[in-house]
Amino acid sequence: MTSQRARDRLVAQLREMGIHSSRVLDIMRHTPRHLFIDEALASRAYENTALPIGHGQTISQPFIVARMTEALLEGGPLHKVLEVGAGCGYQTVILAQVADQVYSIERIAALASRLRDRLRAMNHFHVSVRHGDGSLGWARHAPYDGILVAAAPLGLPRRLLDQLAPGGRLVIPVGAAGQQQLLRITRTDEGFHEEYLDKVSFVPLLGGVS
Ligand code: SAH
Repeated sequence: MTSQRARDRLVAQLREMGIHSSRVLDIMRHTPRHLFIDEALASRAYENTALPIGHGQTISQPFIVARMTEALLEGGPLHKVLEVGAGCGYQTVILAQVADQVYSIERIAALASRLRDRLRAMNHFHVSVRHGDGSLGWARHAPYDGILVAAAPLGLPRRLLDQLAPGGRLVIPVGAAGQQQLLRITRTDEGFHEEYLDKVSFVPLLGGVS
């Protein structure tokens, strides 16, 4: 079930759920999600669900990956993107196809190192992976046109807002388990403009590294 038919079915489902960017749908169709999960789960790779990736973490649900990517893209071209919470790297590789340069941070060392190997094997040389606490951002490469956070803090991390370029967008789940909201924050001349996108369920954004 890693066939083109399974992928087409997933894309049809994403479209029905409200993803309208043909660019994003096309990328979802062509990105091999089964390569990011354990072989034992590969037959479920094109189901629209989160799946375990070890270390108590999950690969994000395809709908959420598409939704967040679309939300980042809507405000304009993405030259530099920061991703916080790379996990297995599926979202990372989607971002690598819409941005010129991707910087990705993961706090679990084993996941960060597996992702580096995976990216090399897939020839994604314009992605840099760092093992660290992503709530601090990656100041050296700031400012970013887009920042995507795949784990939920209780409030908006100030350091990430500071690293947005003018017009840049931060797409982030915020809140405690059971009451998280997906938000898009855009940096404007006047300050920050906040939009509510969806109700979501992410693992918590944790401090420190592991
Ligand atoms: N999009 C990823 C989602 C992984 S789950 C995927 O599809 O695989 C969220 C990830 O965020 C986990 O791997 C977790 O280790 C990581 N994470 C949690 N807090 C973090 C932090 N402060 N900095 C960086 N990564 C963090």
